[in-house]
Amino acid sequence: MPMSQWQQQAKDALKGVQQSNEFFNTQAFTQAKFPIKIPLKYASLIEDNNPNDPLLRQVMPQVSAAEGGYSLSPLNDENHAPVDGLIHKYPNRVLLIASQVCAIHCQYCFRQNFDYSQHDAMSNWAAIEQYIQQHIEINEVILSGGDPLSLSDQKLEKLIQKLELIKHITTLRIHSRALVVIPSRITEQLINMLAKTRLNVVLVTHINHAHELSLEFCENIAKIKQVTLLNQSVLLKGVNDDLDSLKSLSLALFEAKILPYYLHMLDKVSGAENYFVSDEKALQLHQQLQSQLSGYLVPKLVRDLGREAKTWLL
Ligand code: SF4
Repeated sequence: MPMSQWQQQAKDALKGVQQSNEFFNTQAFTQAKFPIKIPLKYASLIEDNNPNDPLLRQVMPQVSAAEGGYSLSPLNDENHAPVDGLIHKYPNRVLLIASQVCAIHCQYCFRQNFDYSQHDAMSNWAAIEQYIQQHIEINEVILSGGDPLSLSDQKLEKLIQKLELIKHITTLRIHSRALVVIPSRITEQLINMLAKTRLNVVLVTHINHAHELSLEFCENIAKIKQVTLLNQSVLLKGVNDDLDSLKSLSLALFEAKILPYYLHMLDKVSGAENYFVSDEKALQLHQQLQSQLSGYLVPKLVRDLGREAKTWLL
């Protein structure tokens, strides 16, 4: 089957130090343990000759001094996987590792050390289906990864059809960053499959800065109907840890008919130390946001506490 446009764009992404330095005409990219991957569409949104560009900072490896409290797997997801490829932390919902691949590599990613070879939901479907069938308290399935929209439309549709057959599943939630970093991922086939499924669909975009919302993304996301659109961001030093950036992001999301849902504190993965924002600063920013925006434009400020399997509002 020929590659679709978005698959070609994913394949053509900048990879590695040399390509990235050449493209941005810099020597600032250095080797990192999480390999560099930047789709050209995303790269085109980065301002020339601006080492502090908020989009550039997310994909450029940061030289961080190791600090206490950081680890390879801050949320211990592996300890909540009763079946390979399925994470069950909350009674009513499970998360499937639907893909091992991402369209972009975010240098703050808490899953950058995750052993995907052990957790591929697609190759362990029989056991996953049996687990969900046996737990009738589960009504929501979350597709995660990697990025679940790295799957082809054909594979995604087959997975959704399998989930539709499980009677007690009512809601499908898809978390994806691919939508915004490669907007052509919003294909007609994707739009149609989300519109026709019997499941209530919640699409959670992962957008951290208003500059990420390109015109192409806004035009394409507007074509998605009968789906609840939410966004989650990570609060990142030098990216969006100021009032103007957070306000602009909420307003730009609302323009695109996406509601700001969560603003996550950084998950403390080794190597991401330079993205850390203190609780004091986060709370102050959140209070300022509340005073300047309508309530529905203020995301919940949360921290994931892996072991306790809970997300707390600060
Ligand atoms: S897209 Fe999500 S899972 Fe993939 S590298 Fe970025 S933060 Fe991590």
